[in-house]
Amino acid sequence: MLITLVDAAESPRIKGWLVRRGFESKVVQRGQALLLSDPWVPWEVRDALSADPAVACIDETTDTPRRVMRQDSGPIAMGPWSFGALPIIAGPCAVESRDMIREVAEFCASLGIQWLRGGTDKTRTRCEAFQGLGAEAAVWLREAADAHGMLSVTEVTDSPAADAISDAAHVLMVGARHMHASRHLQRVGRFGKPVILKRGLSASPEEWLRAAEYLLDAGAPSVAFCERGARAAHPLKRFTLDLAAVPFMREMSAYPILVDPSHAAGYSPYVLPLARAALAAGAHGVIIECHPNPAAARSDAIQALDFEAMAQFAAEITSKKGTAPPPVSDISFAPTATHVVDKAGQR
Ligand code: PEP
Ligand code: MN
Repeated sequence: MLITLVDAAESPRIKGWLVRRGFESKVVQRGQALLLSDPWVPWEVRDALSADPAVACIDETTDTPRRVMRQDSGPIAMGPWSFGALPIIAGPCAVESRDMIREVAEFCASLGIQWLRGGTDKTRTRCEAFQGLGAEAAVWLREAADAHGMLSVTEVTDSPAADAISDAAHVLMVGARHMHASRHLQRVGRFGKPVILKRGLSASPEEWLRAAEYLLDAGAPSVAFCERGARAAHPLKRFTLDLAAVPFMREMSAYPILVDPSHAAGYSPYVLPLARAALAAGAHGVIIECHPNPAAARSDAIQALDFEAMAQFAAEITSKKGTAPPPVSDISFAPTATHVVDKAGQR
């Protein structure tokens, strides 16, 4: 980023202002400009600089990921893509049968949950493990969601069933193991549907943001990021949840940041504490795995919540509505109005 000043005499003041916000800059053009090599400059900082009378103009000299970062353009209208009443995406790890997903949909809908997840093409560590029921299951998931006016969310992998699965789903998901696969991201983006982009197991923020650029560039109308736990040296259970990703993504990107506490914890007693923490940190929503009979789940049984726990959590979130950190409701699956309000300084 190159900040051109109206008067070279102002460069020490602006340089000092940047230092106080954690940005080193180099004085160039005989003091007439300041050069920042760090591309991760939050929009608030850019706005404040543009508003300073000493700043003549700001040029992007670095390769800023413009599509995902906050823009001046305002929210993209996305019609029905909203979290509605509850910021929860719930459902089983895998769609195990038509009846099972109907049962889960009916139950989740009765709690006011409007987003139904269900894996149909599973990426498993062990090749002998249950791999999902494929395109047919994606159709069951969609039918079950439609029956209650819910939105169906399922992962699209690089399998031959990807076209049929994405045809059936309202919202596509790119799993953590595929986040780095740029050709896959382009393919998923070309389906033209909103995409939830899981963070790779050890992906840097830059790799994650740039993966979203691939999706948006290829035609995805919208993305939501999802932190799902990172690979760390000594995980207490399955992964280590990086909650700092929540404020970071809220600052850097116009798109929602979700958290998946189920895959992070890998252990059902830890799921709800992490979900609460995620919402308290400002996550726009949480993705939680639940199952009518967790002990019998064909994948991720240990982390699945039973219906009772799911109901308790939904009730807890509903009762806290209005007191929880903004925004926990009315979140469109798009650059959020909140960001635009923030940008205008009208918090
Ligand atoms: C999932 O959500 O079904 C899943 C496999 O998650 P992840 O890609 O984060 O491991
Ligand atoms: Mn799972």
